[in-house]
Amino acid sequence: MFVVFKCVCGEWQYQDDQFKTRKCSKCARTIKLVKRRVLGKARTGQEARVIMLHLKMKELGLKL
Ligand SMILES: [Zn+2]
Repeated sequence: MFVVFKCVCGEWQYQDDQFKTRKCSKCARTIKLVKRRVLGKARTGQEARVIMLHLKMKELGLKL
C-alpha cells in the first residue's frame, strides 16, 4: 500500500508503507511515516502520484 502525506515543510510526498521513513525531496528531513497524517492511500506508486497531484490541485483551489 502506498500512502500520500505531507512533510512538515508542506511538500507533498508518497511512499510505499512497507518503508517506515522517507527523506523529503525538498527539505531533506527524514520523515517518519507513522507521525504524519495519511491524506490518501493507493495500491501502486502511479496511483499514489495521481492522488497526490489531485490533492495538491485541490489545495491550490485548482481543477484538473
Ligand atoms: Zn520537507
